[in-house]
Amino acid sequence: MDLSTELKFIKGIGPGRASMLAAKGLETVEDLLSYPPFRYEDRSNVKPIHQLAPGEMATVLAEVKSTKVSGFQRKNLGIFEATFTDPPGAAIEVFPSGENTVRPSFRRSGKEVLMGKWFHGTYLQSVIEPGMRVALYGKVELDNYSRELTMMHPEFEILSGEDDSDPGLHTGRIVPVYEAAAKVTAKMIRSTVARILASLPPQAERVPQTVVDRVKLMPVSEALREMHFPSEGTDVRLLNAFRSAAQWRFIFEEFFWLEVGLSLKKARAKHEKGIEFALTEKVRERIKEMLPFRPTGAQKRVLGEIAQDMASPKPMYRLLQGDVGSGKTLVAAEAAVIAIENGYQVAVLAPTEILAAQHYLYFKKLFHKLGYVPVLLTGSNTAREKVQLKKLLAANLAHIAIGTHALLESDVEFANLGLAIVDEQHRFGVEQRKRLSEKGNPDVLVMTATPIPRTLALTIYGDLDVSIIDEMPPGRKAIVTKHLSEDKIEQVWSFVKKQIDEGRQAYVVYPVIEESETQAMKAAQKMHEHLAKIVFPDVEVGLLHGKLPTDDKEQAMDRFQKGLTKILVSTTVIEVGVDVPNASVMVIEQAERFGLSQLHQLRGRVGRGGDQSYCLLVTSKAGDTARERIRTMVESTDGFYIAEMDLKLRGPGEFFGTKQSGLPAFRIGNLIRDAEILEIARNEATGFVANPPSEEEMRKAVAYIRDHWQRRYGLVQVG
Ligand code: ADP
Ligand code: MG
Repeated sequence: MDLSTELKFIKGIGPGRASMLAAKGLETVEDLLSYPPFRYEDRSNVKPIHQLAPGEMATVLAEVKSTKVSGFQRKNLGIFEATFTDPPGAAIEVFPSGENTVRPSFRRSGKEVLMGKWFHGTYLQSVIEPGMRVALYGKVELDNYSRELTMMHPEFEILSGEDDSDPGLHTGRIVPVYEAAAKVTAKMIRSTVARILASLPPQAERVPQTVVDRVKLMPVSEALREMHFPSEGTDVRLLNAFRSAAQWRFIFEEFFWLEVGLSLKKARAKHEKGIEFALTEKVRERIKEMLPFRPTGAQKRVLGEIAQDMASPKPMYRLLQGDVGSGKTLVAAEAAVIAIENGYQVAVLAPTEILAAQHYLYFKKLFHKLGYVPVLLTGSNTAREKVQLKKLLAANLAHIAIGTHALLESDVEFANLGLAIVDEQHRFGVEQRKRLSEKGNPDVLVMTATPIPRTLALTIYGDLDVSIIDEMPPGRKAIVTKHLSEDKIEQVWSFVKKQIDEGRQAYVVYPVIEESETQAMKAAQKMHEHLAKIVFPDVEVGLLHGKLPTDDKEQAMDRFQKGLTKILVSTTVIEVGVDVPNASVMVIEQAERFGLSQLHQLRGRVGRGGDQSYCLLVTSKAGDTARERIRTMVESTDGFYIAEMDLKLRGPGEFFGTKQSGLPAFRIGNLIRDAEILEIARNEATGFVANPPSEEEMRKAVAYIRDHWQRRYGLVQVG
């Protein structure tokens, strides 16, 4: 047997159980050994029945005296009851625990019995039979009626008879408790793991020895044993509260190989040839000419980082991170000027049509003075428009193309693409990124408003460099956020009315329900009608949703931008990028349906001017986590804190969409909870790749990742 042996060949696991385990991703010996117990139980408190005290958790070695089933026996609904007694003289010698000194807290007769009760236990009639010797583990209680010592649903092992379990494995020691896989119980998993560990040959160390020594990793064989069956005397409370040294080892190992893979990939990218943009005085002048206001210190700093990348011969791959409204788009525009002044074209990729249209308007305004020609290319262009636009791009007559995925279609050709700006990267998959680089290997700038811890960002985006805008443009006031229930909606509208009377504008947003843009559109349409006709008959109320033709979208946005429309009713399409500084109220209907990051993004649409802005979260009914999200929103406007809460509430897989981020689902490690281990693993991996102890070690590492890690996690390509 070795790590790659399939579980179905292991004794006790037939095809049925194998397929239940496979459904949990457990197919090989290695999979099962990497399946960590979710907690440990100390069952080493072994006592004879006559020394048991109510309230304690104990393991008892006893003899079955009698059994009976009461209640509804058909369909296994009966209650199985067994009476246990101390076996004559035997108990203590089997598992000496040394501490049988607890004083009885109730009167003892000297002839104690222990009752075991199992609801839905009819089937146990043929399992636990009089005369058998068993080990029981459970909580000792005093039955209210019979005043007898009782264990409800104790875990048990048959110590005699035909049971195939291993005596002393499930009781009388610290035992691992696993999450069951369908009908494969924790107990069966425990038996199987024990059987595997008993016959598995010693494992060679996989992590480079220099690293093992430096971080004091527990050796692999020892760690395998300790993770599943901690040595006697280990404090179970500590084991359950913290990562044990054994678990730490495997988490480290997972992160280490991931980071080595990412590091190798990045090292290889260094040799790729990119564009060397010239940063001339003319370029600087043109940027100054374009700027509508003075950049913040943070904007200047990140532009410096971007410009340096663009001027260098290696291709830029940079993530620009900054909270909503921090001014990322302006920085992107500056980068675009560098490219265009060097004679190159720029592509701007947006996740939605509305956002693309929004960017288009923004860049058009900024670039008007400079004489650049922007084009907008989305799925809703007519065929004729498309032909026209493509011609412009191929002939280098358009300088900047803004669009959705449509820009990535293979028939869209650029004469001379030099820079790609990708907005809200987490909606773009690895595949799209590749398609983009096929269009001329441009420098890439990715913008995201999702502030995540730096090490995590580096891991998730892997081969990207990171720039952070950590300063807001001057004069912003903190947005006031309030939570109201649906029955207070009249108050919401009268507040909106007041703001409009003062010259401000408002958004009213509806969630997209269960992926159905159509339903959300209907809700928005209905609300639009209601608001326009009944609540606000005197002002213009606009409507914006994904199903509108592009022209109508542009018009709706344009009218809102110009201040003609006072209220814009919309589905979540305005989530990112819309920029109307005069809007001061954001009403979010059915706020309970939104994720935390989404709520924060939406709120970021207001508070862009000098006026006090408000975000009103309206809910009809909210569950616990929804309430937690709303509370977080009311308490904080800090995007970093909110992202952290979001990660906690949702977990990283869902947060980033594991598939899209290209990240594997880890077995043991958790990118958030184990952030500190990630940090150490990343440092070790980077050091290892930069300075391998020997070429041999490096070859081994690459081979290990290729043969093993890549297959197991479907991870980054290496070598
Ligand atoms: P982001 O893309 O990071 O969400 P934007 O680039 O859309 O942010 O900028 C948000 C708003 O702040 C826009 O109205 C923009 O014109 C404005 N803005 C950006 N930078 C500055 C600055 N340095 N000073 C004043 N306003 C700015
Ligand atoms: Mg933006």
